[in-house]
Amino acid sequence: MTDIADALTQVQDEITAAARAAGRDPAAVTLVAASKTVEEPGLRAALAAGQRVFGENRVQEAAGKWPALRDAHPDLELHLIGPLQTNKVNQALGLFDVIESLDRPKLARALARARENGATLPRLMVQVNIGQEDQKAGVDPAELESFLAECRDEHRLDVQGLMAIPPAEQDPRPYFTRLRRLCDELGLDRCSMGMSGDFAQAVECGATMVRVGSRLFGEREYP
Ligand SMILES: *Cc1c(COP(=O)(O)O)cnc(C)c1O
Repeated sequence: MTDIADALTQVQDEITAAARAAGRDPAAVTLVAASKTVEEPGLRAALAAGQRVFGENRVQEAAGKWPALRDAHPDLELHLIGPLQTNKVNQALGLFDVIESLDRPKLARALARARENGATLPRLMVQVNIGQEDQKAGVDPAELESFLAECRDEHRLDVQGLMAIPPAEQDPRPYFTRLRRLCDELGLDRCSMGMSGDFAQAVECGATMVRVGSRLFGEREYP
């Protein structure tokens, strides 16, 4: 498991280098360890190496893996980075500190309703379909401003940032730049972009969170 500790050091070093090269403060970039499919020994290795911020894609998987580890590490911060079904909202609220994947009005309504019923909401970020791809989740950039207004004015949801996954097999930088510009225009501090293959470019373009999985934990093996 030293590999995970080594990989964490290396990725963190690359984040620091990319931030410095861009004239940015490396401390302004949070490494979110994307731990989907990673089992308990891998999670424990990352925790032992000091990693505290993790991203999971599936509510069910996170519910199986994290509650016991969270008891041992109260300073843990868990992000939902995958799609959230409205029937899983209540379960998700018990698990996650940040939902990065608020992506549609129906989910905004479900979150508002959960709060009316007494739940405390996690920090919220809106997923943007930055490449306007048919198969991808996220709010269309052209509809982002009205969606944010709806979240704020109708539902009193406090959205703090944007998240996106650019189109595969293309230079991601124009998309990263576009997402960063949207954050700036809309007054949102948090900008989650960049994965194993492109987190350094994302940091150059202004990411405040990068979500890195396989560079830390190895290639995923799906059952
Ligand atoms: C899995 C995943 C990542 C991490 O991907 P890697 O290429 O393994 O670094 C980042 N973001 C999201 C939304 C993911 O699902």
